[in-house]
Formats: sequence, structure tokens, C-alpha cells
Amino acid sequence: MFTTDFKDQPYWWEQMPLTTMDDNPLPESVDVVIIGAGYTGLNAAIQTARAGRNTLVLDAENAGWGASTRNGGQVSTSVKPSYDELNKKHGPEVAYAILKEGFTSLQWTEDFIRSEDIDCDFKVAGRFHAAHNSSQYEKLGKAVDRNISGLETESYMVPRAEQHAELGTDGYFGGAMFPKHASLHPARYHRGLLNKVMDAGATTISHCPVTDLSREKEGFLVKTPKGIVKAKQVMIATNGYTGGLTPWHQRRVIPIGSYVIATEALAPEVMDRLMPKDRIVSDTRKVVYYYRPSPDRSRIVFGGRVSLGETNPRASGPMLHRSLTGIFPELADAKISHSWMGFVAFTFDTLMHVGEDDGLFYSMGYCGSGVGMASYLGMKVGQQMLDKKEGETAFNNIGFQTRPLYKGKPWFLSPSVMYYKMRDHINI
Ligand SMILES: Cc1cc2nc3c(=O)[nH]c(=O)nc-3n(C[C@H](O)[C@H](O)[C@H](O)COP(=O)(O)OP(=O)(O)OC[C@H]3O[C@@H](n4cnc5c(N)ncnc54)[C@H](O)[C@@H]3O)c2cc1C
Repeated sequence: MFTTDFKDQPYWWEQMPLTTMDDNPLPESVDVVIIGAGYTGLNAAIQTARAGRNTLVLDAENAGWGASTRNGGQVSTSVKPSYDELNKKHGPEVAYAILKEGFTSLQWTEDFIRSEDIDCDFKVAGRFHAAHNSSQYEKLGKAVDRNISGLETESYMVPRAEQHAELGTDGYFGGAMFPKHASLHPARYHRGLLNKVMDAGATTISHCPVTDLSREKEGFLVKTPKGIVKAKQVMIATNGYTGGLTPWHQRRVIPIGSYVIATEALAPEVMDRLMPKDRIVSDTRKVVYYYRPSPDRSRIVFGGRVSLGETNPRASGPMLHRSLTGIFPELADAKISHSWMGFVAFTFDTLMHVGEDDGLFYSMGYCGSGVGMASYLGMKVGQQMLDKKEGETAFNNIGFQTRPLYKGKPWFLSPSVMYYKMRDHINI
């Protein structure tokens, strides 16, 4: 099942290993400390540093070690709830604004990568969202037809009979195409951002966990094993890795492991048959699978949630392989070269949240769709730290909920995964 040179770490690190930034000395005081050096933190840092604020980014591990170099590299509009669901809860204006901002985040990410010339295999590849049964195909069709004025998605249905033009499998019942969704190389994108942060004059220090935050008259004292730094403003950009440092946030995000494998290099004719158009793919299962070709089209990068509780990549690899061959039976003998996992942050309303509380800013809770949205909202919160009006977002004042007794350990996860897997299995 595993290649002889198998690694239990992201395939993306082969082309772009994480860089160690341990040697920068900890300054005594700065304008801005950003905790977490993923897409959220780095995009915020670009804003504050370019505006002349003395900016320090700290990460407990290597910069990018979190989800930002482990993800599937699929870029979408990111917002999960539908207009009707949002409307029921927040009214038509907020519902509209939230969905509109989803579109904006996708377009902004493309424009930013292109205008900053970030070399990260960005491609508007289009998403094939596959229906795992016929009723889901019908449901997708209705969603594609449900056009709210101003929120029209460019999308169309692909019936089962034409499916092979998008994806070489009979395992689905057709699907919906979203031509504007894109793909990128997650670690190359992250390195590009890190370079921009350095060019803007900000400092990043890795292996520097923030262990305590205390309020001062004019900001915060930020405690780390390397010393203490004073900061006027602090941003929490820890998403699925949010811990006890900020219990208020920890009570509001649900860390969930997502698991990925890369196959060994496959024959070009196999890739051409299975993934003829380079699409990124997801499906309608509640416990969703997401996959795509690697940027050089040599292999399939396949992700999903395979176990009820968290497990390790050596155990999740074979389970994902089983799921992969369920879709592409001809890959039964294909070996796995890489298997890894990372944490995403879900929220109780399946929306992302940003805000500020007395100088402590945050953006988190992308619910597994954060490549574009973390980038966009990180940028927005950076603008909010500069007190810029254009930093306002629809995600600011929608109430960041928790639940009684929830302290950051999702005891309800295994039963929920089991329930949703069962529903997927019996084709609901
Ligand atoms: C396996 C996987 C697949 C995914 N696939 C996709 C996809 O295809 N498309 C998509 O849109 N999204 C995807 N996502 C989600 C996306 O990757 C994330 O939403 C996004 O990367 C979040 O970025 P971030 O900067 O907020 O957090 P992260 O990149 O997770 O960074 C958080 C950082 O905070 C640091 N940290 C935590 N506590 C402290 C502390 N006390 N002091 C200092 N540092 C600290 C951590 O070390 C970590 O590096 C996926 C995620 C995973 C895990």
C-alpha cells in the first residue's frame, strides 16, 4: 500500500519544505503581534507592515506548519450555509452580504496572487461537485437554478451520461460545475506570502509559542519561552490550532482533523482518463471527499474524513485509499507516497468569524474552506487593525456562538461523524 519512500507528511513539503525562522531575536516592543503564521496571520501582517506598523508574527512551530501547508489547495467561495438558511437566521441583508463576500474572497485571492506575482501554480481549474446519489443530483440542480439577484453563481449541471468528460468514474450520479473555483500549491502559496511579509519589513519567529497574554494600559504583554514582548495590538490567527491561550476563542471553534493522501506517480494516460480536465473535485456526502490532480498532473491528492475519532496518517492512509478506489477502481494497485492530516476549525453556525475585543483581534472558523477566505479575512482584519473603513466585513457582527459545557474538546465529534457516515451510506 505504501511506497518504499513513503512519508507521513504533506506531499506539498517535497517541493516546498517549511523554512525555519528561529534566529530572529525577540524585540522588546512592537506595534502589532500576530499569533499564528498561516494564511490568516500572514495576510494581516502584510497589511499592517506595509502601513508602517512594526509587526511581529509568532508561531509555535515552523511558519506554515498548520493547515496552511497541509490543505488540498482548493479555492472556492467558502461560505457553507445557503441564502435561505442565512436569511432565516440573519435576515436578507446580512444573508446577501455574507454570500457576496464569499464571491469577493475568491476573486480577491486570484487578483492578489496575480498582482503580487506569487508563484504557486494558481489555476482557475473549475470545481466538479459530484452527486453521490440521484436525489443529491436533483438537489444540486435546484440550487444551481436558485438565482438570487446579485448572487448568481456561474455554474451548470453535468448529467451522469456526460460525467466522464469531467471525471473518469461511474461512481457518481452527475454533478455541478463551478468554473470559477481554482487550485493552487498550498505550500508554495504560503512561502510566497512569507516572502511578502519579510519584504514589507515584518519579523517572523518560529518555534515561539505564545504562552500568556496580559493586558497593559497601552496594549498587551506577550509572553513566550524566548522572552516577553510589548504590543499595542494583538491578533489571534490560530484557527484549528487555537488552544488554552485564548479560552474565549477555544470555546467557539471545533478542531476537526482532515486527512489527505497522495498517490505515487501514475501513468499520464491514467491521469488523462481519471482527471481529464484538471478539475478540483468535492462530493455531496456529508462526510465529504475532496481531491484533485497534483499541479504537475503526476498523481492524485485525495482528502476526507475517514475515522470517527482522530487517528494517525499511517492508519488513515489505507482508509482513504479504500475510498479512492471506491471511486476509481483501477487505482487498486496504486501505492500511497504521502499521508498526512491537519486541523480545520468548525464553528457552531458553520460560518467564519472576525472581530476585535479591546485591541485583541481575531479571524477564524473557516469550516474547512479557508484557502481563499483565511487569506481574504486575514487581509481584512489587518485593515481593521489600521482602523481602515474598508476593513469592515459581513462576518464581524454576526455573534460568535459557543455551547454550554463546550470548552474546546469536541466530545460530540465521533457520534456526529458516525451519524453522517451512516446517512451517506444509506444514500440520504
Ligand atoms: C487537511 C486539510 C485540507 C484542507 N483543504 C482545504 C482546501 O482544499 N480548500 C480550502 O479552502 N481549505 C482547506 N483547508 C482549510 C485551510 O487550510 C485553513 O482554513 C487555513 O489554512 C487556515 O489558515 P490559518 O492561518 O487561519 O490557520 P493555520 O494555517 O492552521 O495556522 C495556525 C497557526 O497557529 C499556530 N499557533 C497556534 N497556537 C499558537 C500559539 N499559542 N503561539 C504561536 N502560534 C500558535 C500554529 O502553530 C499554526 O501554525 C484544509 C485544511 C486541512 C487541515
